[in-house]
Order: sequence, then structure tokens, then C-alpha cells
Amino acid sequence: MRGPGRIAVIGGGPAGAMAAAELAAAGRDVLLLDEKLAWEKPCGGGITQKALDQYPFLSHAQVERNWIRGCELTSPSGYRASFVLNRRIAIFSRQVLNRLLLERAAAGAQIVRERVTSVEGTAGAWQLRARRAAFSAEYLVIAGGARSKFRGQLSRPFAPADLLATAGYFIPGSGDTLEIAFLKGIEGYIWVFPRSHHLSAGICARLQTATTASLRTQLDAFLAARGYDLSKAQFYSHVLPAPTAGTLQKAPLEGMGWALVGDAAGLVDAITGEGLYYAIRSADLLAQALTQARSYTQLLERELLPELRMAARMAGRFYHGNFLGQAVLERVVRLTDASATLRELTRDLFAGSQGYRGLRRRFYLSLPRVAMEMLFAPAPKSSVPASPSLESGKRASAAELRHRA
Ligand SMILES: Cc1cc2nc3c(=O)[nH]c(=O)nc-3n(C[C@H](O)[C@H](O)[C@H](O)COP(=O)(O)OP(=O)(O)OC[C@H]3O[C@@H](n4cnc5c(N)ncnc54)[C@H](O)[C@@H]3O)c2cc1C
Repeated sequence: MRGPGRIAVIGGGPAGAMAAAELAAAGRDVLLLDEKLAWEKPCGGGITQKALDQYPFLSHAQVERNWIRGCELTSPSGYRASFVLNRRIAIFSRQVLNRLLLERAAAGAQIVRERVTSVEGTAGAWQLRARRAAFSAEYLVIAGGARSKFRGQLSRPFAPADLLATAGYFIPGSGDTLEIAFLKGIEGYIWVFPRSHHLSAGICARLQTATTASLRTQLDAFLAARGYDLSKAQFYSHVLPAPTAGTLQKAPLEGMGWALVGDAAGLVDAITGEGLYYAIRSADLLAQALTQARSYTQLLERELLPELRMAARMAGRFYHGNFLGQAVLERVVRLTDASATLRELTRDLFAGSQGYRGLRRRFYLSLPRVAMEMLFAPAPKSSVPASPSLESGKRASAAELRHRA
């Protein structure tokens, strides 16, 4: 199948590396440019079962990753729900994940460590300028992440409403339980994701509503209350795209001789912030489009965009809405704790096997069963205080959680 000649991929994160690997494996002439190559990008590093199932090399590669067994959710009032995750979630250091994907790409693509400073030209004749050299290409894959200026040049830039601010720490330590805490009035959450040799702990919120400093203050208070020692921790901050449904509808993700993938395309779940699966998947879909003469936009429309638009539409209600007289976030955590049926639903959402589109229907169909579970449940436990001790903060080990499976 004929296609573009030399393809330049700008950015070697998960999206760029995956695109380069798949295109090179299909026999294309690929040049990948990344200013840092394998680096510890600010990220949780959580990879869901959906991604692990679709891309088995993520499970089977001989690299370090941490398998997660339990999850603890904390509601805005401090109520905690702990449960076993019976679906697989792997937490990767981003340096490890990026290296793994770049090594796959290096099997067929030319990889150059360079920061691309400008792109000029048109389809079939792009000129790329970098610090030490210049390159030409017929086709451009923009995989430079959330801050890539080339998105704005070729499509339209993200507006502040399309972005989340994030702040976090890499903290020495490990574990096998994810912590996720929702806060009052914030469209976002705090996470503590244990990796093999450190924890990635962070907080995200809409860029327009929070500064890095205010997020850091809230995160510090949470981590101190949970007994985490920040004396050897390394601070980070970054932006995460979480485009509005309108942006996902209107911004073109491909044009004559170019395409956007991953964060540069804004392909992130606006509720959870999950972007790694969408980065890898969008790159794979672009490679399929370019090697099988199919439409990338149509492949995205068929597979990823409806779900991401639904997440973008639901995010405000999820974080700020009420359900039966209580904040949705409070209900989610308490019902996950009280009902085995809803715990299963939460697990499926975490795994990615339950999408947002069938969620409402499944929720309402399960209500009679949930009502029975509540009716015959033991007396409700009292709320765990919002500032627990270290022991209670760390109590959700897999062994301790087993009885709640
Ligand atoms: C704090 C935080 C926590 C997150 N946690 C999770 C999580 O737990 N699970 C999850 O699924 N997602 C998470 N995400 C989202 C995830 O990190 C992104 O969706 C993912 O990294 C997107 O991959 P990408 O390849 O599109 O972009 P990136 O990973 O950002 O890669 C872009 C690459 O392009 C390079 N680059 C940029 N500009 C240029 C240039 N001009 N020239 C050369 N190279 C360039 C950069 O060096 C970089 O390597 C998180 C994001 C943040 C900010």
C-alpha cells in the first residue's frame, strides 16, 4: 500500500514511540525526534487492564512495574472505602515505560535526541528545524504532549478550559494499594500510586480554578495527615489536557500531511485523567490509517472520541453534582463501600471494561439489587476521620482487604 514517504514523529513519549514503532514495523521510513527520550515525565504511571489486554507487551516485557491489588477511595468528607482490585492495574515509572516503547520503535525507526524548534512547509515537504540540525519529511506526527506548540500551529491551541493543572511528588517507598481522595469543590483528585521504588503522589484540578501553589498546599496537608515523609521527595508540576466536549468536537486532529496523537490531540479521560491508554491507542490507530489507507479521524470517531466526549460532558456533574441529596462523590465512595454490586461496577470502571456510555443504564438496572444489599447490610461504620494516623492511612494492604473482595 502506498503512503507518505518519510514520516517525522515529533515527541517520543508513549504516543510518539508507539506511532514510530508501528509505522516502522509496517515498512515506513520513520524519524522520531524527542528532546529528552526516556525520562521521568510527571505522571501517575497507572495502566489499566484495558491497555494491558490490548497491548500484552506491557504485561510481558521484562521491565519493572508494580502490580496493584487494592484501592482506597476517600470521599470529600473523609469517609474511606477500601476494596480488592480483581482486575489488573500496573504502575510504571515513566522512564521505564518510555524506554520500553522507544526500544520497540528503535527496531525500525531512526531516533534522534533533538528539540524541534520550528516546523514550516506543507504536506509532502515539511522542514523541521532543531537545535543542532534540520530535517525534512513528507508527513508529520505531532506527539509532543500537552504543551506542544505545533498543535496550535496546525489545529487549534488548547484553551485554559481544556487543561488540568497538576502538582505532585515522587516519594521514596512502595506498596500495593492505590489511594484516591476526592476533595470538596475541586474538579480533580489526589492520588498516591505506588511504583516499584517510589510513590507517585499528586493532585489535579481545572487550570482555571487552581494554581500550582494552592494545589501543592492541599496535597502537602493530605500527605502529612497520612504520614508520608516528604523530606526526600522530588516535586513536579505539569499540565494535563482534559478538553471540553466542544473542543473534542471541533478541533481537527488531522489535516493535509499531519496528524495529532496522544496528549497533543487532547485524548485524555476528563474524569480520571487517564491518558496513557489513549496515547498508545491513538498512535496505533494512526499507524493503521497510514498503512491501510483508512481515515484516522473515522477510526478515532469509531473507537475513542464518543467515550471521551461523554467523559468531558459528565465531569462537571461527577465532581460538583448531587445525587439523592448528597454530593455524587460522597455517594460514589459510600455506595462502593456498602454494596458489592456497585463495588463491581467501580472495579469495571477502573479496569476500563465499563465505559461511560453504558454506565447510567447499568447503574439503574442494578439499583434493586443494591437496595437489597443495603437492607441486609450490617449497621453502617462510622466515617473515618479526615486526618487519620499513619497506621489508618496505610491500613489498606491487600491482605487486610481480602475479606472485602
Ligand atoms: C501529573 C500527571 C499524572 C498522570 N497520571 C496518569 C496515569 O496514572 N495514568 C494515565 O493513563 N495517564 C496519566 N497521565 C496522563 C499521561 O501522562 C499522558 O496522557 C501521556 O504521557 C501522554 O503521552 P504522549 O506521548 O501523548 O505525551 P508525553 O508523554 O507528554 O510525551 C511527549 C514527548 O514529546 C517530547 N517533546 C515535546 N515537545 C518536543 C519538541 N518540540 N521536540 C522534541 N520533543 C518534544 C517530550 O520530551 C516528551 O517526551 C498523567 C498526567 C500527568 C500530568
